[in-house]
Amino acid sequence: MNILVINCGSSSLKYQLIDSDTEAVLAKGLCERIGIDGSVLTHAPAGKDKVKIETSMPNHTVAVKLVIDALTDTNHGVVQSLDEINAVGHRVVHGGEKFASSVIIDDEVLAAIKECNDLAPLHNPANLIGINSCKEIMPNVPMVAVFDTAFHQTMPEKAYLYGLPYAYYEKYKVRRYGFHGTSHDYVSARTAEILGKTREELKIIVCHLGNGGSVSAVDHGKCVDTSMGLTPLEGIIMGTRSGSIDPAICDFICQKENITPAEMNTILNKKSGVLGISNVSSDFRDIEAAAANNNKLAKAALEAFYYSVAKYIGAYTAAMNGVDAIAFTAGVGENNISGRAEIAKYLGYLGTEIDAEKNNVRGEDRVISTEASKVALLCVPTNEELAIARQTTALISVAS
Ligand code: ADP
Repeated sequence: MNILVINCGSSSLKYQLIDSDTEAVLAKGLCERIGIDGSVLTHAPAGKDKVKIETSMPNHTVAVKLVIDALTDTNHGVVQSLDEINAVGHRVVHGGEKFASSVIIDDEVLAAIKECNDLAPLHNPANLIGINSCKEIMPNVPMVAVFDTAFHQTMPEKAYLYGLPYAYYEKYKVRRYGFHGTSHDYVSARTAEILGKTREELKIIVCHLGNGGSVSAVDHGKCVDTSMGLTPLEGIIMGTRSGSIDPAICDFICQKENITPAEMNTILNKKSGVLGISNVSSDFRDIEAAAANNNKLAKAALEAFYYSVAKYIGAYTAAMNGVDAIAFTAGVGENNISGRAEIAKYLGYLGTEIDAEKNNVRGEDRVISTEASKVALLCVPTNEELAIARQTTALISVAS
């Protein structure tokens, strides 16, 4: 089967067409500046040259139509017609407490996703637009929603409740949800596979370190805690996001700087993290280069970042009463060799030993600890699109 995987943002749409039998990516691409002047579709068919199509995309429905045209084009297409797209898998950011797994999309599911809009106002409405646009262009193709929050729904109450008046949970569903669930699920499963075990036998900590980052504790196959919360702002220090801070700081800074809570929220999301500390960049490569040039604040930002990750590893080792494997994934986790080594320096008390030679790897599945290490350390590239394609295939196969 050919599965079209769609990740729709407010002005962008990323896609991959995946052959679910071979798991090969037939084509992938990105529509940018949807609804804005200068929109462009970059389409990369496997084994052929990339094409850039600069054309007006007033809305997402037009963008989806252009994606289908590109996929079926006689020159740069990879399938003959729309009939060869068997299903669509949509990334949906927030499934609230309603969705603990992926689901086939019907009207009821659409309504339930809409009910979660409040919890992810920047993401869920865009995801819904993507789904509706695809339904318009492909009314007879089955569609599946894969939620970023679903994998974390197994967390126990003690992990998801905040120390706040319980009424806020009852009235507004204020609780920890967690994000990057598709990645934590995929990487923890892959970690077990690489170690020649099943996930049900292991206590795994997954460190998804990208621009946004989160750490999760996967105890015998079930997520029991994760660092992101009601929103993707909580947890480790990130590229531009603060991660966890003393909540009283917000009111303090609002008064000192005479800014509104909404402005403070923007600062916490867009101007904080390693960008905020270093004042260099949100990109870890730039910060590393600056740190190598003796930029003190760049060094401070990196140290604070590594330390924040190491603290969560400690916390989740406690949560699971032990840990068998720690996996590093996403842009920084997969590629930042010295970063993994710096984090590993905090883990000696667990009997971990990173192997400098094995750790000398970027974007490849590999155990990076020594044979003697009591806890396995791994580099495991994530693949959220493949995970979405697999879940879509599984649901569609059961349904048909
Ligand atoms: P997101 O999906 O959250 O936007 P990614 O998982 O793509 O983020 O990660 C982006 C981050 O990965 C950037 O900060 C980038 O600097 C970092 N990164 C990518 N390649 C490297 C590398 N070779 N060395 C260090 N950091 C890297």
